[in-house]
Amino acid sequence: AGDGDRHGGDVGGIERDAGLLFGLLGGALWSYPTTKLLAGEAWRRGPRNLAAFMGEALVPARGWLETTYSSDTVRALWAPWVLHAGLGPEDAFSGQIAKVIAFALEAAGAPVVKGGAKNLLAAFEALIKERGGEIRVDADVASIVQSGGRATGVRLASGETLSAAKGVICSVTPTQLYGRLLGKDAPEAATKATQAYRYGKGNFQIHYALDKPPAWRGGGLDKVALLHLTPGLDGVSKACNEAVRGLLPEVPTICVGQPHALDPSRCPEGKAILWLQLPEAPRHIKGDAAGKLNAPADGRWTGALREAYADRVEAILANHIDGFRETVIARRAYSPADLEAMNINLVGGDPYGGSSTIDQSFLWRPFKASRNHETGVKGLYHIGASTHPGAGLGGGSGFLLAGRL
Ligand SMILES: Cc1cc2nc3c(=O)[nH]c(=O)nc-3n(C[C@H](O)[C@H](O)[C@H](O)COP(=O)(O)OP(=O)(O)OC[C@H]3O[C@@H](n4cnc5c(N)ncnc54)[C@H](O)[C@@H]3O)c2cc1C
Repeated sequence: AGDGDRHGGDVGGIERDAGLLFGLLGGALWSYPTTKLLAGEAWRRGPRNLAAFMGEALVPARGWLETTYSSDTVRALWAPWVLHAGLGPEDAFSGQIAKVIAFALEAAGAPVVKGGAKNLLAAFEALIKERGGEIRVDADVASIVQSGGRATGVRLASGETLSAAKGVICSVTPTQLYGRLLGKDAPEAATKATQAYRYGKGNFQIHYALDKPPAWRGGGLDKVALLHLTPGLDGVSKACNEAVRGLLPEVPTICVGQPHALDPSRCPEGKAILWLQLPEAPRHIKGDAAGKLNAPADGRWTGALREAYADRVEAILANHIDGFRETVIARRAYSPADLEAMNINLVGGDPYGGSSTIDQSFLWRPFKASRNHETGVKGLYHIGASTHPGAGLGGGSGFLLAGRL
Protein backbone atom coordinates (compact mmCIF):
# COMPACT_ATOMS: atom_id res chain seq x y z
CA ALA A 1 0.00 0.00 0.00
CA GLY A 2 1.12 3.54 -0.73
CA ASP A 3 0.68 6.75 1.22
CA GLY A 4 -2.73 7.34 -0.34
CA ASP A 5 -4.09 3.97 0.79
CA ARG A 6 -2.65 4.49 4.24
CA HIS A 7 -4.31 7.90 4.43
CA GLY A 8 -7.60 6.28 3.50
CA GLY A 9 -7.00 3.76 6.29
CA ASP A 10 -6.30 6.50 8.84
CA VAL A 11 -9.36 8.55 7.97
CA GLY A 12 -11.48 5.39 7.81
CA GLY A 13 -10.22 4.47 11.29
CA ILE A 14 -11.52 7.77 12.66
CA GLU A 15 -14.87 7.07 11.06
CA ARG A 16 -14.99 3.57 12.62
CA ASP A 17 -14.10 4.91 16.07
CA ALA A 18 -16.30 8.00 15.73
CA GLY A 19 -18.77 7.02 18.48
CA LEU A 20 -16.09 6.61 21.14
CA LEU A 21 -13.82 9.35 19.87
CA PHE A 22 -16.38 12.11 19.50
CA GLY A 23 -18.08 10.99 22.72
CA LEU A 24 -14.82 11.73 24.55
CA LEU A 25 -13.89 14.80 22.49
CA GLY A 26 -17.24 16.50 22.99
CA GLY A 27 -19.11 14.80 25.82
CA ALA A 28 -19.43 15.69 29.50
CA LEU A 29 -16.61 13.55 30.86
CA TRP A 30 -17.30 13.19 34.57
CA SER A 31 -20.73 11.80 33.93
CA TYR A 32 -22.85 8.69 33.74
CA PRO A 33 -23.16 8.78 29.91
CA THR A 34 -19.36 8.77 29.52
CA THR A 35 -18.97 5.96 32.04
CA LYS A 36 -21.60 4.03 30.14
CA LEU A 37 -19.90 4.75 26.82
CA LEU A 38 -16.55 3.46 28.12
CA ALA A 39 -18.10 0.41 29.75
CA GLY A 40 -19.95 -0.39 26.51
CA GLU A 41 -16.75 -0.05 24.48
CA ALA A 42 -14.84 -2.23 26.96
CA TRP A 43 -17.55 -4.87 26.56
CA ARG A 44 -17.61 -4.63 22.77
CA ARG A 45 -13.86 -4.44 22.09
CA GLY A 46 -12.53 -6.13 25.23
CA PRO A 47 -10.79 -4.09 27.95
CA ARG A 48 -7.29 -4.68 26.56
CA ASN A 49 -8.29 -3.43 23.13
CA LEU A 50 -9.90 -0.34 24.65
CA ALA A 51 -6.67 0.36 26.55
CA ALA A 52 -4.76 -0.11 23.27
CA PHE A 53 -7.06 2.44 21.59
CA MET A 54 -6.19 4.97 24.31
CA GLY A 55 -2.48 4.31 23.77
CA GLU A 56 -2.86 4.84 20.01
CA ALA A 57 -4.66 8.10 20.69
CA LEU A 58 -1.65 9.42 22.59
CA VAL A 59 0.78 9.10 19.66
CA PRO A 60 2.37 12.42 18.65
CA ALA A 61 1.94 13.63 15.06
CA ARG A 62 5.61 13.10 14.32
CA GLY A 63 5.36 9.46 15.35
CA TRP A 64 2.24 8.95 13.27
CA LEU A 65 3.55 10.75 10.18
CA GLU A 66 7.00 9.17 10.21
CA THR A 67 5.80 5.62 10.72
CA THR A 68 2.88 5.88 8.30
CA TYR A 69 3.95 7.98 5.32
CA SER A 70 7.09 7.79 3.23
CA SER A 71 6.52 11.09 1.44
CA ASP A 72 7.85 14.27 3.06
CA THR A 73 5.14 16.17 1.21
CA VAL A 74 2.38 14.16 2.86
CA ARG A 75 4.04 14.70 6.23
CA ALA A 76 4.21 18.43 5.46
CA LEU A 77 0.54 18.39 4.48
CA TRP A 78 -0.65 17.21 7.90
CA ALA A 79 1.96 18.49 10.37
CA PRO A 80 0.74 22.14 10.39
CA TRP A 81 -2.82 21.15 11.25
CA VAL A 82 -1.83 20.22 14.80
CA LEU A 83 -1.17 23.93 15.35
CA HIS A 84 -4.90 24.56 14.96
CA ALA A 85 -5.46 22.44 18.03
CA GLY A 86 -2.86 24.42 19.96
CA LEU A 87 -0.38 21.54 19.85
CA GLY A 88 3.05 20.92 18.36
CA PRO A 89 3.99 17.83 16.33
CA GLU A 90 5.86 16.22 19.23
CA ASP A 91 3.02 16.70 21.72
CA ALA A 92 1.16 13.61 22.92
CA PHE A 93 -2.26 13.23 21.24
CA SER A 94 -1.28 15.51 18.30
CA GLY A 95 -1.34 12.54 15.90
CA GLN A 96 -4.91 11.74 16.83
CA ILE A 97 -6.09 15.32 16.53
CA ALA A 98 -4.44 15.60 13.09
CA LYS A 99 -6.34 12.48 11.98
CA VAL A 100 -9.58 13.90 13.37
CA ILE A 101 -8.96 17.11 11.41
CA ALA A 102 -8.16 15.09 8.26
CA PHE A 103 -11.46 13.29 8.74
CA ALA A 104 -13.38 16.53 9.35
CA LEU A 105 -11.86 18.16 6.26
CA GLU A 106 -13.01 15.26 4.13
CA ALA A 107 -16.44 15.09 5.72
CA ALA A 108 -17.24 18.79 5.90
CA GLY A 109 -14.42 20.75 4.24
CA ALA A 110 -13.28 24.00 5.80
CA PRO A 111 -16.45 26.08 5.79
CA VAL A 112 -16.47 29.84 6.21
CA VAL A 113 -19.43 32.04 7.07
CA LYS A 114 -20.93 33.77 4.07
CA GLY A 115 -20.34 37.51 4.32
CA GLY A 116 -17.82 37.19 7.15
CA ALA A 117 -17.60 35.72 10.64
CA LYS A 118 -19.57 38.65 12.02
CA ASN A 119 -22.65 37.05 10.47
CA LEU A 120 -22.25 34.10 12.83
CA LEU A 121 -22.47 36.52 15.75
CA ALA A 122 -25.44 38.25 14.19
CA ALA A 123 -27.22 34.89 13.87
CA PHE A 124 -26.65 34.05 17.54
CA GLU A 125 -27.64 37.55 18.56
CA ALA A 126 -30.94 37.12 16.73
CA LEU A 127 -31.53 33.74 18.41
CA ILE A 128 -30.84 35.14 21.86
CA LYS A 129 -33.12 38.13 21.33
CA GLU A 130 -35.86 35.93 19.92
CA ARG A 131 -35.77 33.97 23.21
CA GLY A 132 -36.07 37.19 25.22
CA GLY A 133 -32.37 37.47 26.01
CA GLU A 134 -30.50 40.71 26.26
CA ILE A 135 -26.93 41.39 25.15
CA ARG A 136 -24.81 44.12 26.67
CA VAL A 137 -21.51 45.12 25.14
CA ASP A 138 -18.83 47.44 26.53
CA ALA A 139 -19.87 46.20 29.95
CA ASP A 140 -16.74 45.03 31.75
CA VAL A 141 -17.60 42.68 34.59
CA ALA A 142 -15.26 43.50 37.49
CA SER A 143 -16.48 41.00 40.08
CA ILE A 144 -18.97 38.30 40.93
CA VAL A 145 -21.44 39.09 43.68
CA GLN A 146 -22.01 36.35 46.25
CA SER A 147 -24.43 36.06 49.08
CA GLY A 148 -24.98 33.13 51.39
CA GLY A 149 -22.23 31.18 49.57
CA ARG A 150 -23.97 31.54 46.20
CA ALA A 151 -23.24 33.61 43.13
CA THR A 152 -26.13 36.04 42.84
CA GLY A 153 -24.96 38.44 40.18
CA VAL A 154 -22.13 40.47 38.71
CA ARG A 155 -20.79 43.93 39.33
CA LEU A 156 -19.61 45.96 36.35
CA ALA A 157 -16.53 48.16 36.35
CA SER A 158 -18.94 51.10 36.08
CA GLY A 159 -20.33 50.15 39.51
CA GLU A 160 -23.65 48.87 38.20
CA THR A 161 -24.82 45.55 39.66
CA LEU A 162 -26.78 42.97 37.68
CA SER A 163 -28.54 40.28 39.66
CA ALA A 164 -29.00 36.73 38.43
CA ALA A 165 -32.25 34.84 38.77
CA LYS A 166 -30.60 31.42 38.70
CA GLY A 167 -26.88 31.51 38.19
CA VAL A 168 -23.84 33.14 36.64
CA ILE A 169 -21.99 31.54 33.72
CA CYS A 170 -18.55 32.92 32.88
CA SER A 171 -16.73 32.39 29.59
CA VAL A 172 -13.36 33.63 30.80
CA THR A 173 -9.92 32.24 31.65
CA PRO A 174 -9.33 30.70 35.08
CA THR A 175 -6.84 33.48 35.71
CA GLN A 176 -9.59 36.04 35.37
CA LEU A 177 -12.32 34.00 37.05
CA TYR A 178 -10.45 33.12 40.21
CA GLY A 179 -7.84 35.90 40.20
CA ARG A 180 -10.02 38.87 39.35
CA LEU A 181 -13.76 38.17 39.38
CA LEU A 182 -13.77 36.15 42.59
CA GLY A 183 -10.48 37.47 43.95
CA LYS A 184 -10.16 36.89 47.68
CA ASP A 185 -13.50 35.06 47.68
CA ALA A 186 -12.17 32.35 45.36
CA PRO A 187 -12.06 28.79 46.71
CA GLU A 188 -8.52 28.14 47.91
CA ALA A 189 -8.06 24.99 45.80
CA ALA A 190 -9.00 26.91 42.65
CA THR A 191 -6.63 29.76 43.44
CA LYS A 192 -3.83 27.27 43.85
CA ALA A 193 -4.72 25.38 40.67
CA THR A 194 -4.83 28.68 38.76
CA GLN A 195 -1.20 29.32 39.63
CA ALA A 196 -0.26 26.07 37.90
CA TYR A 197 -2.47 26.75 34.83
CA ARG A 198 -0.39 27.32 31.70
CA TYR A 199 -1.08 29.35 28.58
CA GLY A 200 -0.04 28.23 25.12
CA LYS A 201 1.87 29.86 22.29
CA GLY A 202 0.85 33.33 21.15
CA ASN A 203 -0.87 33.96 17.86
CA PHE A 204 -0.05 36.58 15.22
CA GLN A 205 -2.49 37.68 12.52
CA ILE A 206 -2.00 39.50 9.24
CA HIS A 207 -4.78 40.65 6.95
CA TYR A 208 -4.22 41.68 3.35
CA ALA A 209 -6.40 43.44 0.85
CA LEU A 210 -5.12 42.64 -2.65
CA ASP A 211 -5.73 44.28 -5.97
CA LYS A 212 -6.09 40.89 -7.66
CA PRO A 213 -6.15 37.20 -6.69
CA PRO A 214 -2.72 35.88 -5.69
CA ALA A 215 -0.79 34.29 -8.57
CA TRP A 216 0.37 31.23 -6.64
CA ARG A 217 3.35 29.43 -8.11
CA GLY A 218 1.79 26.14 -7.03
CA GLY A 219 -1.03 25.22 -9.40
CA GLY A 220 -4.57 25.08 -8.02
CA LEU A 221 -3.74 26.83 -4.75
CA ASP A 222 -6.04 29.73 -5.65
CA LYS A 223 -9.01 27.44 -4.98
CA VAL A 224 -7.92 26.31 -1.52
CA ALA A 225 -9.71 27.96 1.40
CA LEU A 226 -6.90 27.34 3.91
CA LEU A 227 -3.38 26.27 3.05
CA HIS A 228 -0.09 26.16 4.95
CA LEU A 229 3.32 27.42 3.92
CA THR A 230 5.90 25.30 5.71
CA PRO A 231 9.30 23.75 5.07
CA GLY A 232 7.71 20.49 6.34
CA LEU A 233 7.33 18.46 9.53
CA ASP A 234 10.75 19.53 10.84
CA GLY A 235 9.95 23.14 9.96
CA VAL A 236 6.75 23.08 12.04
CA SER A 237 8.64 21.42 14.87
CA LYS A 238 11.44 24.00 14.77
CA ALA A 239 9.15 27.04 14.63
CA CYS A 240 6.96 25.65 17.41
CA ASN A 241 9.93 25.02 19.64
CA GLU A 242 11.34 28.48 18.95
CA ALA A 243 8.05 30.14 19.90
CA VAL A 244 7.80 28.06 23.07
CA ARG A 245 11.32 29.20 23.98
CA GLY A 246 10.33 32.86 23.52
CA LEU A 247 12.01 33.31 20.14
CA LEU A 248 10.58 34.86 16.99
CA PRO A 249 10.56 31.87 14.64
CA GLU A 250 13.04 32.07 11.79
CA VAL A 251 10.64 30.41 9.34
CA PRO A 252 7.15 30.44 10.86
CA THR A 253 4.39 28.19 9.59
CA ILE A 254 2.03 30.49 7.70
CA CYS A 255 -1.63 29.50 7.59
CA VAL A 256 -3.10 31.27 4.59
CA GLY A 257 -6.86 31.65 4.55
CA GLN A 258 -8.47 32.76 1.31
CA PRO A 259 -12.10 33.35 2.28
CA HIS A 260 -12.92 34.78 -1.14
CA ALA A 261 -12.09 31.37 -2.67
CA LEU A 262 -15.30 30.06 -1.07
CA ASP A 263 -17.27 33.27 -0.65
CA PRO A 264 -16.84 35.84 -3.43
CA SER A 265 -18.95 38.33 -1.44
CA ARG A 266 -15.95 38.94 0.83
CA CYS A 267 -14.36 41.47 -1.52
CA PRO A 268 -15.12 43.44 -4.69
CA GLU A 269 -15.05 41.43 -7.88
CA GLY A 270 -11.57 40.84 -9.25
CA LYS A 271 -9.91 41.68 -5.90
CA ALA A 272 -8.83 39.34 -3.12
CA ILE A 273 -8.22 39.13 0.62
CA LEU A 274 -5.81 36.99 2.60
CA TRP A 275 -6.23 36.00 6.24
CA LEU A 276 -2.90 34.92 7.66
CA GLN A 277 -2.51 33.13 10.93
CA LEU A 278 0.86 32.49 12.56
CA PRO A 279 0.20 30.12 15.44
CA GLU A 280 3.85 30.01 16.52
CA ALA A 281 4.46 33.40 18.10
CA PRO A 282 6.14 34.02 21.46
CA ARG A 283 3.98 35.49 24.22
CA HIS A 284 7.04 36.99 25.83
CA ILE A 285 9.96 37.71 23.51
CA LYS A 286 13.42 36.65 24.54
CA GLY A 287 15.09 36.87 21.15
CA ASP A 288 14.97 36.18 17.44
CA ALA A 289 15.74 32.70 16.11
CA ALA A 290 17.01 34.35 12.92
CA GLY A 291 19.31 36.62 14.94
CA LYS A 292 18.12 39.68 13.05
CA LEU A 293 15.47 41.48 15.11
CA ASN A 294 16.19 42.87 18.55
CA ALA A 295 14.02 41.67 21.42
CA PRO A 296 12.65 44.56 23.49
CA ALA A 297 14.27 44.74 26.96
CA ASP A 298 10.92 44.07 28.68
CA GLY A 299 10.05 41.21 26.30
CA ARG A 300 6.84 42.89 25.13
CA TRP A 301 5.69 43.24 21.57
CA THR A 302 5.97 46.75 20.14
CA GLY A 303 4.38 48.19 17.00
CA ALA A 304 7.80 48.38 15.33
CA LEU A 305 8.63 44.74 16.09
CA ARG A 306 5.21 43.63 14.88
CA GLU A 307 5.73 45.31 11.50
CA ALA A 308 9.31 44.00 11.21
CA TYR A 309 8.08 40.46 11.92
CA ALA A 310 5.21 40.89 9.44
CA ASP A 311 7.87 41.85 6.86
CA ARG A 312 9.57 38.49 7.49
CA VAL A 313 6.29 36.71 6.86
CA GLU A 314 5.60 38.81 3.77
CA ALA A 315 9.00 37.89 2.31
CA ILE A 316 8.11 34.17 2.58
CA LEU A 317 4.72 34.81 1.03
CA ALA A 318 6.30 36.75 -1.82
CA ASN A 319 8.41 33.68 -2.64
CA HIS A 320 5.26 31.71 -3.38
CA ILE A 321 3.17 34.32 -5.19
CA ASP A 322 4.29 36.06 -8.35
CA GLY A 323 4.41 39.84 -8.04
CA PHE A 324 2.80 39.68 -4.59
CA ARG A 325 4.03 43.01 -3.24
CA GLU A 326 2.72 44.97 -6.23
CA THR A 327 -0.80 43.69 -5.57
CA VAL A 328 -0.99 44.75 -1.91
CA ILE A 329 -3.56 47.49 -1.29
CA ALA A 330 -3.30 47.29 2.49
CA ARG A 331 -1.79 45.15 5.23
CA ARG A 332 -2.81 45.07 8.86
CA ALA A 333 -0.92 43.00 11.41
CA TYR A 334 -1.89 42.06 14.97
CA SER A 335 0.74 40.89 17.43
CA PRO A 336 -0.14 38.60 20.35
CA ALA A 337 -0.20 41.73 22.53
CA ASP A 338 -2.65 43.45 20.16
CA LEU A 339 -4.95 40.41 20.29
CA GLU A 340 -4.87 40.41 24.09
CA ALA A 341 -5.63 44.13 24.13
CA MET A 342 -8.75 43.40 22.05
CA ASN A 343 -9.90 40.43 24.14
CA ILE A 344 -8.88 39.78 27.74
CA ASN A 345 -9.46 36.05 27.15
CA LEU A 346 -6.45 35.88 24.83
CA VAL A 347 -3.79 35.82 27.53
CA GLY A 348 -0.43 36.58 25.91
CA GLY A 349 -2.21 36.24 22.56
CA ASP A 350 -2.97 32.55 23.17
CA PRO A 351 -6.05 32.02 20.99
CA TYR A 352 -7.02 28.81 22.77
CA GLY A 353 -7.58 29.90 26.37
CA GLY A 354 -4.66 27.92 27.75
CA SER A 355 -2.22 25.27 26.63
CA SER A 356 -4.07 22.30 25.13
CA THR A 357 -1.50 19.63 25.93
CA ILE A 358 -3.07 16.43 27.17
CA ASP A 359 -2.38 17.17 30.85
CA GLN A 360 -4.56 20.27 30.49
CA SER A 361 -7.33 18.77 28.37
CA PHE A 362 -10.34 16.48 28.76
CA LEU A 363 -10.94 15.56 32.43
CA TRP A 364 -8.12 17.91 33.39
CA ARG A 365 -9.35 21.17 31.82
CA PRO A 366 -8.94 23.66 33.31
CA PHE A 367 -7.81 21.91 36.49
CA LYS A 368 -6.88 18.37 37.37
CA ALA A 369 -9.82 18.18 39.79
CA SER A 370 -12.38 20.14 37.72
CA ARG A 371 -15.84 18.66 37.44
CA ASN A 372 -18.05 19.51 34.48
CA HIS A 373 -17.89 23.33 34.49
CA GLU A 374 -18.40 23.68 38.25
CA THR A 375 -16.35 26.28 40.10
CA GLY A 376 -16.64 25.41 43.77
CA VAL A 377 -19.08 28.32 44.22
CA LYS A 378 -22.79 27.48 44.09
CA GLY A 379 -24.63 28.96 41.13
CA LEU A 380 -21.38 29.90 39.38
CA TYR A 381 -20.29 28.03 36.26
CA HIS A 382 -17.23 28.17 34.05
CA ILE A 383 -17.39 27.67 30.28
CA GLY A 384 -15.29 28.71 27.29
CA ALA A 385 -12.04 27.67 25.67
CA SER A 386 -10.31 27.12 29.03
CA THR A 387 -12.81 24.38 29.89
CA HIS A 388 -13.64 21.02 28.30
CA PRO A 389 -13.97 20.45 25.30
CA GLY A 390 -11.48 23.27 24.82
CA ALA A 391 -10.99 25.94 22.19
CA GLY A 392 -12.94 26.44 19.01
CA LEU A 393 -16.09 27.97 17.67
CA GLY A 394 -18.25 24.92 18.35
CA GLY A 395 -19.65 26.29 21.60
CA GLY A 396 -19.20 22.83 23.15
CA SER A 397 -18.76 23.83 26.79
CA GLY A 398 -21.85 26.05 26.87
CA PHE A 399 -23.85 23.31 25.18
CA LEU A 400 -22.76 20.71 27.74
CA LEU A 401 -23.51 23.01 30.67
CA ALA A 402 -26.89 23.99 29.24
CA GLY A 403 -27.76 20.29 29.01
CA ARG A 404 -26.81 19.77 32.65
CA LEU A 405 -28.68 22.81 33.92
C1 LIG B 1 -7.23 34.95 15.52
C2 LIG B 1 -7.99 33.73 15.95
C3 LIG B 1 -8.43 32.82 15.00
C4 LIG B 1 -9.16 31.69 15.38
N1 LIG B 1 -9.62 30.85 14.42
C5 LIG B 1 -10.45 29.84 14.75
C6 LIG B 1 -11.07 29.03 13.74
O1 LIG B 1 -10.87 29.23 12.56
N2 LIG B 1 -11.89 28.02 14.15
C7 LIG B 1 -12.15 27.79 15.45
O2 LIG B 1 -12.93 26.88 15.76
N3 LIG B 1 -11.57 28.54 16.43
C8 LIG B 1 -10.75 29.57 16.11
N4 LIG B 1 -10.18 30.34 17.09
C9 LIG B 1 -10.43 29.99 18.49
C10 LIG B 1 -11.79 30.48 18.95
O3 LIG B 1 -11.99 31.80 18.52
C11 LIG B 1 -11.86 30.45 20.48
O4 LIG B 1 -11.49 29.17 20.96
C12 LIG B 1 -13.28 30.76 20.94
O5 LIG B 1 -13.69 32.02 20.49
C13 LIG B 1 -13.33 30.72 22.46
O6 LIG B 1 -14.63 31.05 22.90
P1 LIG B 1 -14.85 31.61 24.35
O7 LIG B 1 -16.30 31.83 24.53
O8 LIG B 1 -14.09 30.81 25.33
O9 LIG B 1 -14.12 33.03 24.41
P2 LIG B 1 -14.27 34.32 23.51
O10 LIG B 1 -14.71 34.01 22.14
O11 LIG B 1 -12.98 35.04 23.72
O12 LIG B 1 -15.47 35.12 24.19
C14 LIG B 1 -15.40 35.61 25.51
C15 LIG B 1 -15.95 37.01 25.52
O13 LIG B 1 -16.08 37.44 26.88
C16 LIG B 1 -15.59 38.75 26.99
N5 LIG B 1 -15.15 38.96 28.37
C17 LIG B 1 -14.11 38.36 29.01
N6 LIG B 1 -14.01 38.84 30.26
C18 LIG B 1 -15.01 39.71 30.42
C19 LIG B 1 -15.43 40.53 31.52
N7 LIG B 1 -14.81 40.53 32.70
N8 LIG B 1 -16.50 41.35 31.34
C20 LIG B 1 -17.17 41.36 30.16
N9 LIG B 1 -16.81 40.61 29.08
C21 LIG B 1 -15.74 39.81 29.22
C22 LIG B 1 -14.45 38.81 26.01
O14 LIG B 1 -14.15 40.14 25.67
C23 LIG B 1 -15.01 38.00 24.84
O15 LIG B 1 -15.77 38.83 24.00
C24 LIG B 1 -9.44 31.47 16.74
C25 LIG B 1 -8.99 32.39 17.69
C26 LIG B 1 -8.27 33.51 17.31
C27 LIG B 1 -7.82 34.50 18.35
